[in-house]
Amino acid sequence: MDIKCSEKELFIFNKIARAAESLGLETYLIGGFVRDKLLGRETKDADIVCVGDAIALATEVAGHFLPRPTVSYFKNFGTAHIRVDDGFDIEFVGARKESYHYHSRNPDVVPGTLEDDQLRRDFSINALAISLNIKDYGRLIDPFNGREDLSAKMIRTPLDPLQTFSDDPLRMMRAIRFATQLDFSIHPVTLQAIKQDINRIKIISQERITDELNKILAAPKPSIGFDLLYQCGLLHIIFPQMVDLEGAEYKDGVGHKDNFYHTLQVVDNLAARSEDIWLRWAAVLHDIGKPATKRFEEGHGWTFHGHEVVGGRMVPGIFARLKLPLNEKMRFVRKMVELHLRPISLTKENITDSAIRRLLYDAGGDYESLMQLCEADITSKNKWKVKRFLDNFRMVRQRCAEVEENDRIRNWQPPITGEMIMQTFGIKPSRPVGEIKNAIRDAILDGHIPNTYDAAYAFMLEKAKEFKLEPVI
Ligand code: ATP
Ligand code: MG
Repeated sequence: MDIKCSEKELFIFNKIARAAESLGLETYLIGGFVRDKLLGRETKDADIVCVGDAIALATEVAGHFLPRPTVSYFKNFGTAHIRVDDGFDIEFVGARKESYHYHSRNPDVVPGTLEDDQLRRDFSINALAISLNIKDYGRLIDPFNGREDLSAKMIRTPLDPLQTFSDDPLRMMRAIRFATQLDFSIHPVTLQAIKQDINRIKIISQERITDELNKILAAPKPSIGFDLLYQCGLLHIIFPQMVDLEGAEYKDGVGHKDNFYHTLQVVDNLAARSEDIWLRWAAVLHDIGKPATKRFEEGHGWTFHGHEVVGGRMVPGIFARLKLPLNEKMRFVRKMVELHLRPISLTKENITDSAIRRLLYDAGGDYESLMQLCEADITSKNKWKVKRFLDNFRMVRQRCAEVEENDRIRNWQPPITGEMIMQTFGIKPSRPVGEIKNAIRDAILDGHIPNTYDAAYAFMLEKAKEFKLEPVI
């Protein structure tokens, strides 16, 4: 074999080869599996292409395994899937030839040869095939010099890129996604074609675009992809709010940093610390409120007062537009954006326990994520400054650990709930309920009263007098 496979994989490919032989079908391993093996990357699923009926082949292959795996298939597309050996997925597809018309996203598809099939694939590195046929079992078939492009770390289309991207504009996103995941360059002619064709992305569904965005964000260095999206103009179409971060304005000789590149640096810093895709989204969005809050104040320079609040408010709209989930993941991202300045404000001297308790309470179970985001947010070019900030954060963490050890704030709830307040005074949900509840919480967090039911109850009775409320029980 021209690629290095495990014993288990060889065993499986052998069975596929035997099944194909018995049906008299030319069969090949193709696409991402071959590419990733040649790169020495981890592989997941394998794609098989055969010249003929892929569903028949999948059915025959399934018969070679015990227990026999289920064959799921799409008759219309002529594709089939089986899962063997506890989770090794194999996709089968019949070799085909595609021709596209400019105004339709759906190509005319007719059966074709292996070469036709390789021609319809997006990039030279994704068109590599390995023969599973007796005459040349294991041989690499590489009509577009994909192997050279792998060594040169280059993304390039097999055909004229304008044709390739016009046929399926999602490939523009895929080019950038693979460049990011593999740390490859996009060939200048291929990149030029993307720049020329960016508007075609509008015919692609938001779900598929966001899928690629998420893959870019999950890569080890997401900035590669966001920068490429920005440089070629796609970002302006798919995520304009992020482009609004660009540029550094100067006035009276005073500038501010370019918030777009700052954001990319924060995303990379965070990616080095955490795999959590939602925390990575929080890094993308942490300063998204800056353009809307930017002011120049005489004597102070540039300010972005309240950008964390404005940014937090922008999160639901951005999630909706990108068709990201509007659930607790979104609320988490919003919370991170809103709180991202809080820990840095605690790095000054003479910080009280109550300020620390408040941060622990507001961050709750997301305290560690918030600290990771804040540490990633330090992007000065001055190494000493970075070191000083990180040292300060270590102190904040230390203080937080001490206060948490004593007071257990992170998973804490005040001893008196809104329900209890309503029952005590015989009132319905209303403003006094919220105010009394918050006053109790604040009194405990600020250390004015102990964290006990009795103290909180007595405090509640006092506070209720401001609203002329008397207990009814
Ligand atoms: P990964 O699974 O890691 O994302 P992959 O290369 O396997 O990478 P898939 O999306 O699983 O990517 O597609 C499998 C193969 O199908 C690709 O390697 C490529 O040859 C082909 N392919 C997928 N999508 C397209 C497309 N939009 N245009 C042309 N060929 C494509
Ligand atoms: Mg794949």
